[in-house]
Amino acid sequence: MKIYNTLTKTKEEFKPRDPAGKKVQMFVCGPTVYDHSHIGHARTYVFFDVVAKYLRYRGYKVTYLMNITDIEDRIIDRAQRDGKSVKELVRIFEKSFLEDTKALKIDSVNKYTRATGYIKQIVKQVETLLEKGHAYKIDGDGYYFDLSTFPDYGKLAHRTANQAEDAISRIDESVNKKNKGDFTLWKFSKPNEPSWKSSLGTGRPGWHIEDTAITDYHFGSQYDLHGGAVDLVFPHHEAEIAQQESASGKKPFVKYWLHPGFLTVKEQKMSKSLGNFITIKDALKNYSPETIRFMVLSNYYRSPLDYNDSVVNQSQAAVQRIAEFIQKLSLANGNNDFEISDYRRKFEEAMDDDFNTARVIALIFDLTRKVNSMLVDNSLNRNSAKKIRKFLQNINSVLGIIPAKQEKIPDSITKLIQKREELRQENNYEEADKIRAQIEDRGYQVDDTVYGSLVTKK
Ligand SMILES: [Zn+2]
Repeated sequence: MKIYNTLTKTKEEFKPRDPAGKKVQMFVCGPTVYDHSHIGHARTYVFFDVVAKYLRYRGYKVTYLMNITDIEDRIIDRAQRDGKSVKELVRIFEKSFLEDTKALKIDSVNKYTRATGYIKQIVKQVETLLEKGHAYKIDGDGYYFDLSTFPDYGKLAHRTANQAEDAISRIDESVNKKNKGDFTLWKFSKPNEPSWKSSLGTGRPGWHIEDTAITDYHFGSQYDLHGGAVDLVFPHHEAEIAQQESASGKKPFVKYWLHPGFLTVKEQKMSKSLGNFITIKDALKNYSPETIRFMVLSNYYRSPLDYNDSVVNQSQAAVQRIAEFIQKLSLANGNNDFEISDYRRKFEEAMDDDFNTARVIALIFDLTRKVNSMLVDNSLNRNSAKKIRKFLQNINSVLGIIPAKQEKIPDSITKLIQKREELRQENNYEEADKIRAQIEDRGYQVDDTVYGSLVTKK
């Protein structure tokens, strides 16, 4: 099995660190809980859900840890704006995030951690960095990581420490820093900010230190797989490497780094000011979780993905086709075998090739086309139908794209849809449009997609 590793910029053979080759330790950066999660988050977390599930399908024993950032500048800002305490605010959005992941059937995470639950470990790691000469104190400000002590800085993002200053956030700003890109490890708190008393002084953690303190505690100083959205590569993940490799002296901190690409909305970066900010809750009002998952997985994870009406409608139609196909399989009663083993092999080959779910989806539709023709002339036997269904369930246990129950479309509507398809194939669009009007009169809507007609209740 091969995985594209951001660190080496190549597809590498996947070999976990465990000498027996069984256990896999996996960590993904969760959200900073100052707002509802958006569909960009859905992309990231659905993808890593599939990664964990496929590794388990492959027989690995995966421990999947996700951290939720519950202390950060944006949280403090919003709490002050909303007149809430930081604690109140983060609980609201943490709950919202967990609701969203549940709704999206993201259920592979073994443990969610909160940054503020690990202050002791964070302080300990900062102390280690101080002892080893990788950190320094600025009076009245906080502790910073000294980038001049870590020549490897930039190896993940493939840039240099001198290019670091373009990506620092407010918390890392100080005129007294030794190097431009030095980042905060521990910040002395201003009045009205949450703070913790510690041997470092009263303050709060910087953004990057929480993840390494948490993984060091649960996994040790080195582990297998670290993921997060591509915008976290620099400086966040780069900083994690600097911290952990400096603290432990061991390299590499993480063996495989995975970063799914951006999600845009109608070809634009999602932002509140552009009015194209779509939360997971918004998306789930209109579309099923399977549709959202399908949309995410129909694309290779490292490529950019655009969220727009056509893409989601297509995904909805595709999910409908797969569900219909499975229903039709139960009617099989013919005499001929269908050999599924080839498809199983191709499924694993595609997933083994850097989780190429887009290829898996193409494979599913190749299968439905071939089997459909056997269902039409009722030549498929029951045993083969059972095996095909089992195969699709196996795929579904990894991808989660088949709805448990399908909205029932009345037979009268299904007949009209078929009639309309026939007319369209005969290029008789005038009559086809009349049928469409009849369908709409009965409260249904029909849209045409690359996966055939999409029927929904109006
Ligand atoms: Zn993180």
